[in-house]
Amino acid sequence: MHSKEVVISGGGMVGAALAVALSRLGLSITLLEKQPPAAFSADSAIDLRVSSLNLRSERWLTELGAWQVLETMRLCPYHYLQAGEAKAQLRFAAADIHSSHLGHIVENNLLQLALWQQFTSHITVITDAHIVAFAEQPQQLDITLSDDRTLQAALLIGADGAQSMVRQLAGIGSSGWQYQQACLVACVDTPYPQQDITWQQFYPSGPRAFLPLPGAQASLVWYDEAAKIKQLAQLSPKALQNAFIEAFPAELGAITLTSSAWFPLARMQANQYVKGRVVLAGDAAHTINPLAGQGVNLGFADAIQLVQCLSDNISAGRELAATHSLGAYQRQRKWQNSLMMTAMDFIYQGFSRESDALSFVRQQGLRLASRAGVIKRLLTQYAVGNDLI
Ligand SMILES: Cc1cc2nc3c(=O)[nH]c(=O)nc-3n(C[C@H](O)[C@H](O)[C@H](O)COP(=O)(O)OP(=O)(O)OC[C@H]3O[C@@H](n4cnc5c(N)ncnc54)[C@H](O)[C@@H]3O)c2cc1C
Repeated sequence: MHSKEVVISGGGMVGAALAVALSRLGLSITLLEKQPPAAFSADSAIDLRVSSLNLRSERWLTELGAWQVLETMRLCPYHYLQAGEAKAQLRFAAADIHSSHLGHIVENNLLQLALWQQFTSHITVITDAHIVAFAEQPQQLDITLSDDRTLQAALLIGADGAQSMVRQLAGIGSSGWQYQQACLVACVDTPYPQQDITWQQFYPSGPRAFLPLPGAQASLVWYDEAAKIKQLAQLSPKALQNAFIEAFPAELGAITLTSSAWFPLARMQANQYVKGRVVLAGDAAHTINPLAGQGVNLGFADAIQLVQCLSDNISAGRELAATHSLGAYQRQRKWQNSLMMTAMDFIYQGFSRESDALSFVRQQGLRLASRAGVIKRLLTQYAVGNDLI
């Protein structure tokens, strides 16, 4: 009889979703999280960290029961997605793919909470200790916690974010780089009722994005040179509000800033997603430029694939960490994640070069894609989370 003990380090959106899905396979889960989500109240301020979730993530979160809970809290659907530059824009509509919407903007802490509310007695949560070491034995991993407790597991999943301790303890290296740009995120009140479009306009200094939030609120993201972003972050709230109004397209209107914070941008990919009985998922395995809002969508895609591999191992009577299916997890997810990272860098580079010739090519490309129904439908399918390759 193979061990059914799984330890997950990190109970953020990806780790919590994995805990729920794996507990439903009959596995016994121990989840370590240093910052459990706070309770929800309808008048709590909007979390500055919001994510645009695609239809594939939404479907999976519905299967897990978290989406239904999120709907009773707060979330905002969008029906249109527009990207381009001042002279040419490409607009995608849900109707193009016969869908009721293209995605939703959700608050990270509320989604995490909605997932935690699906935890059952098969999930043991530890919030007062973290992993400090582990040793691989032939049949299991022996895991030591910061309070000297020990745990045994057939599998250890690192879902502990970009600075993953599990990745470091496993000696898994990573490659990537820090972008020269950073981004400033602001939560604002807009002069309009709830909007149903998310848009992104590219400038040579970087894109500026609008994500609708419930009511008249919105999240704005301003990408620019790191030095410029740090300068903006030093401004008084009133001066920063004016800077946003000046820098963003006029369609934004006279916003009122309610909160803001800046984030560095990094691309990172772990050299291995799997090493013996250790598996990485979500930001612990990869971080991507947030430009097109793909980070946690890729993390959920990792989680879906990992759950499938482990389910196959259980059905076939193999042990959980059987290498051939975990190897398939690593191959498929690394390939898909690399593809998306490269696509993001291509778009980012393509739009940030200032040259008349390139600008002409960009505008023609956007106009062509706008008119070519097939290309537009394919791009829309990709945007909502369907793989093209
Ligand atoms: C500005 C910005 C905008 C973004 N917008 C989008 C978007 O629109 N759409 C999208 O899909 N993605 C977006 N992302 C990316 C998205 O936020 C991340 O991909 C996502 O948060 C990753 O989830 P995760 O659960 O893998 O990691 P995290 O969210 O980092 O969660 C890791 C969890 O592990 C816990 N933890 C860490 N170390 C330990 C430890 N040693 N022991 C125990 N617990 C630990 C942490 O407390 C945390 O709860 C954006 C990112 C940024 C910076």
